Amino acid sequence: MNKPRQYFIETWGCQMNELDSLRLAGQLNRQGLQKTQDAAAADVILLNSCSVREKASQKAYSRLGEYRLLKQKNEDLKIGFCGCVAQQQGDEALKRIKELDFVVGTGRVDELERVLEHCRNTGERIVATGFPEDRQYDMDVIVRDGQYKGMVTIIEGCNKRCTFCIVPTTRGPERCRPMVQILEEVEKLVEKGFCEIELLGQTVNHWREPGADLLDFADLLDRVARVPGVERLRFVTSYPRDFTQDMVDQFATHANLCSYLHLPVQSGSNRVLKTMGRGYEIESYLDLVERLRVARPELALSTDLIVGFPGETAEDFEQTLALVRQVRFSSVFAFCYSPRPGTAAPRLPLPEIEPEIASSRLQELFKTQGEIQKQLNEELVGDCHEVLVTGQGKQPGYWNGRTSCHRIVHFQEPAPQAIKAGSLIDVEITHANAHSLLGRFSPPTS
Ligand code: SF4
Repeated sequence: MNKPRQYFIETWGCQMNELDSLRLAGQLNRQGLQKTQDAAAADVILLNSCSVREKASQKAYSRLGEYRLLKQKNEDLKIGFCGCVAQQQGDEALKRIKELDFVVGTGRVDELERVLEHCRNTGERIVATGFPEDRQYDMDVIVRDGQYKGMVTIIEGCNKRCTFCIVPTTRGPERCRPMVQILEEVEKLVEKGFCEIELLGQTVNHWREPGADLLDFADLLDRVARVPGVERLRFVTSYPRDFTQDMVDQFATHANLCSYLHLPVQSGSNRVLKTMGRGYEIESYLDLVERLRVARPELALSTDLIVGFPGETAEDFEQTLALVRQVRFSSVFAFCYSPRPGTAAPRLPLPEIEPEIASSRLQELFKTQGEIQKQLNEELVGDCHEVLVTGQGKQPGYWNGRTSCHRIVHFQEPAPQAIKAGSLIDVEITHANAHSLLGRFSPPTS
């Protein structure tokens, strides 16, 4: 009997890339290939790259360099380069890695099958990048096995021009999916047994019904939250300036909207926000935070922060620390600024920040945030939380899950009750760390 052909996908980056990898995997499954965790055993290898990482293209080329060695043992092996770096590099990637068979950009994920077949039949090397107007989104091809939540892309790309960000180049202009298609996908996911739905987009709350500006993200949230069987609903990533009062009100209206919001602020200084081209000031961000907490007092907020942006003074950085202390974020994703090719920030007439200074500011930020986070987590000890089971833990007999407020909880298997990823159970929090909680199964009292 012939050995089944296998594929290996390495995924870097955000949930959008994770979901794209599931779309790529589904097309390979449709061609009869099976997934493997071992690149050396694969007949197709895909690197789904992310450009948010520092020295992203260097890292991608180094990984592709490792994969190309596998062709010495398997000359039928096909190697594909996907994701944000692939989108940017295009032909250049084929020039640099002669063993690379194809490049599939973020706007053409659904073309993998066609590209691979063409490659196999003709032996030609192919570049499929750009953002065709008529690009498809085949929701049925997405592999959902092993997933604990139902991720649904509602908007792709971004029309904004934050001076540090590469997304408009790598993901193209904004493109919204029609509400009817989104609702259909959500209903299918519920039928498959998903009780948590996550709506995805680079600027998720800028969703508009395509062709008619009559419906916005508040309407969409309202409709999705009302779909029977949606027990938990979240969305990522929101842009502060686009967050309307109607969207805020959804947190008061729908109990199944999770008590968590990722709201990237990037800096606590108005001066820096201006040079970043963010289009809002700290005062309006804080006002939004206040209104959100009125609508949902227990709302946990997380954020993104860039430290050492060109021109950032010690005083600007102090304002970032002050903001962190004032808002008391449940978690912070912070990085030292590093220039990305094709973005405006490196061309701004602003002094660069010494790497040592940026890195010491980052450490100070982590220290401040770590203390806040530990305190916030300690406040949860003794409470009972509904947890979505995300999978088995590293320690035998332990499972992991996420609360509605997106905290990670490790808990012991609730014997004799069998649980599985994707189910909801109640857990009593027994101990708090800065980055996770420990708990025990809390059986319902009858
Ligand atoms: S809004 Fe977000 S995705 Fe769009 S350019 Fe700004 S940082 Fe990038």
